[in-house]
Amino acid sequence: MFISVNRSAQSCPQAAIICSHAATKKHPILQAFHTEHSGETDSGWQFFCGVANEERVEDVQVWSLDEVLQMEPSLREFMNVTEGMTVWRSSVDMPWQVCRT
Ligand SMILES: [Zn+2]
Repeated sequence: MFISVNRSAQSCPQAAIICSHAATKKHPILQAFHTEHSGETDSGWQFFCGVANEERVEDVQVWSLDEVLQMEPSLREFMNVTEGMTVWRSSVDMPWQVCRT
């Protein structure tokens, strides 16, 4: 599931999409998609818990990439993977894996 960052988000440096569950710490981040970024201020990163049956587009939040990485520092080392790659883990106890979307 990919969501395009709207214009209002572009004032935010290196904006990233985060699902409402991860944003509210209801669920940890289990999936990170590096999509093609749509501008200088869009990081192209989208973070999802992957747990909720349905991610509602209207519920996603726009954070700066730094904010996401502060919450989930283990993702920092993967920030240089190329666009089109997905970083995921099956649970918080498992290591991150990288695959092509
Ligand atoms: Zn979620």
